[in-house]
Amino acid sequence: MEFEAVIGLEVHAQLLTKSKIFCGCSTQFGSTPNSQTCPVCLGMPGVLPVLNRKVVDFAIMLGLATNSTINKNSYFARKNYFYPDLPKGYQISQYELPICSNGHLIIKTKDGEKKIGITRIHMEEDAGKLIHEGTYSLVDLNRTGTPLLEIVSEPDMRSPEEAVAYLKELRQILLYLGICDGNMEEGSFRCDANVSVRKKGDNKLGIKTELKNINSFRFIQRALEYEIERQIDIIESGNTIIQETRLFDSSKGITIPMRSKEEAHDYRYFPEPDLMPVFIDDAHIENIKNFLPELPYQKILRFREQYGLPEYDIDILTNEKEVADFYEKCLSLYNNPKALSNFFMTELLKELNERKCKIGDTKLNAENIVEIFKLLDEQKLNYNGAKALLPKIIDTGKSPSILLEEMGLMQISDTSTLESVIIEVLKSNKKELKEYLSGKDKLFAFFVGQVMKKTGGKANPKILQELLKEKLAKISIDDVDNL
Ligand SMILES: [Zn+2]
Repeated sequence: MEFEAVIGLEVHAQLLTKSKIFCGCSTQFGSTPNSQTCPVCLGMPGVLPVLNRKVVDFAIMLGLATNSTINKNSYFARKNYFYPDLPKGYQISQYELPICSNGHLIIKTKDGEKKIGITRIHMEEDAGKLIHEGTYSLVDLNRTGTPLLEIVSEPDMRSPEEAVAYLKELRQILLYLGICDGNMEEGSFRCDANVSVRKKGDNKLGIKTELKNINSFRFIQRALEYEIERQIDIIESGNTIIQETRLFDSSKGITIPMRSKEEAHDYRYFPEPDLMPVFIDDAHIENIKNFLPELPYQKILRFREQYGLPEYDIDILTNEKEVADFYEKCLSLYNNPKALSNFFMTELLKELNERKCKIGDTKLNAENIVEIFKLLDEQKLNYNGAKALLPKIIDTGKSPSILLEEMGLMQISDTSTLESVIIEVLKSNKKELKEYLSGKDKLFAFFVGQVMKKTGGKANPKILQELLKEKLAKISIDDVDNL
């Protein structure tokens, strides 16, 4: 029997506002516990929340970027439950009328593009954080009241790969919009997954389980794979799946029960009486639309048309906005899209990955990258030299032509110097020379390599090859011993 998975995702994205959603406290991460609190976010009696306008604007931005309907009237609701990191005893969220609904985004799958529906996007406040230490627990309320957007998808995904593709696409949009830092380790982009399985071709949904708070793409993939397998096994052995919430144990690679449906909360939602409903007028939406930055899929389209780059290059260059912007800055100073793209993919991004840093963390600037290409064109530098220069440029921000002198990487293009090295190499490799002359053409590369080695990688490869060819053509096998 063939089964298919049905997956829906709920993402919580922490917004990059300076202050919290209903008070003026800072949202900075990593400060001394409980130093960023006030009577409002501590849930003291008699205080009144005031909505942070920026949160509404950010929600509208995401709504527009995900083709959602922006609901001009929405309101907040109280979601009641007790937990030590939620001092008010309720969370202010949106329930019946969220700010955005009926959106979608497009993901790439192995069978082509696929549309994934977004049911709703709503605003809410985050809870605090519990720190468990042996026999007691501590509470840090700095995070209490940090603004979140909850993005709920339709159950449109059919495999763990599609789920991960959706999450990557959504995260990229949030990053391009500049409204969330997407940091999964710090929890500013976290995901719950609803998953069920059914016989292929069935329209009825199976009984679902919910996987809570998974904090990396790799774990989401593994948790879903495990859970789908587990559910299929249960059905095939004639048993019934229990509707429950499960946790992913990343060290064992399995999901374990957390609570069943019977234990589920009844949140007793009701409209938040301390906040006015949210009214948004058309002019405000139009204004935000006009200032929306270019989105990932728009950038991909433009790169395709404007620069004629292969899809593979475009995917890598547009993956992060900062990289795409830097690439275009270099391109405005040196108009060779493919040469720059190759250098970005094979050298620059590799170098940054190894250092685990971003362009902005280094002393890199577009002028220096472009100067490397000019030195290559002028044959003052060869590609090996360019590779050797790059780490220094990243660390020091010095100009390549200065570093070139300092590091002695000036390319050797002088024919008499190269000729004497070639002769030296041929003399000391007579065995290989004889083999080459008797037809082992492959050894040409060996001689090139030897000259490169002797010149510390600085020989001009084009001139070297020409000279070597010339020289080898003049030697006959009988001359070798008298060289
Ligand atoms: Zn506060």
